[in-house]
Amino acid sequence: MIIAIDGPSGAGKSTLGKMLAKEFGLLYLDTGAMYRAAALAVIKKGVSLEDREKVAEIAENAKIELVGEPDSMQVLLDGEDVSAEIRTPDVATAASVVSTISDVRKIMVDHQRAIGESAAKGCVLEGRDIGSVVFPNADIKFFLTAKPEARARRRFAEDQAKGRATSYEKTLDEINKRDERDVSRSDSPLTIPQNATVIDTSELELNDVFELMILKVKALAAGSTAG
Ligand code: C5P
Repeated sequence: MIIAIDGPSGAGKSTLGKMLAKEFGLLYLDTGAMYRAAALAVIKKGVSLEDREKVAEIAENAKIELVGEPDSMQVLLDGEDVSAEIRTPDVATAASVVSTISDVRKIMVDHQRAIGESAAKGCVLEGRDIGSVVFPNADIKFFLTAKPEARARRRFAEDQAKGRATSYEKTLDEINKRDERDVSRSDSPLTIPQNATVIDTSELELNDVFELMILKVKALAAGSTAG
């Protein structure tokens, strides 16, 4: 079973994707982490994000691995644990620039398909183009969204909890810029995939969204056409 979860940043994709994967014993793949790791590889090499050819070359040669259980997943870049390093706002911004390059996307998409297809029981993949490009025939597609202010509030709270120096205004500005880049790029822009179940999480509790998603998965498993 392939479950695709797409949507803008801060809508709850990672938290809910991990919860779903655990609930149904599926592999969990955070595709944003892969773009972040590729961006970090570029930064570490001191190459300009504007140098699209070099960036694609670095992405091609970088060994990006996601290992472990959903809750304690580690992201390895050339064997080094970069799980914390890829979560900074600077790497998030760099990832959104790097992800506009078609050659980079091609490398990532191939990698993601291979991982998803080889997962014995199935896979939950979350990102921006999963239901539209990576697995257009996914068994279930969710599009999670929320108002920018709600998403920035969540991201800001996460950053504060991790002791990162930032402000709500800065977080909101970064989220808006990243959204703008994700929806306006020519290759695989963020879009609601065909047949996706759209959930606006702005006013919903996490567990309520989770229940909605579980119902959808169970309905599919039962061969029902509900919803
Ligand atoms: O999901 P996350 O915020 O970690 O993703 C970082 C960036 O990677 C996004 O802003 C987006 O530009 C890019 N991305 C993408 N396609 C995906 C996943 C992430 O373009 N499937």
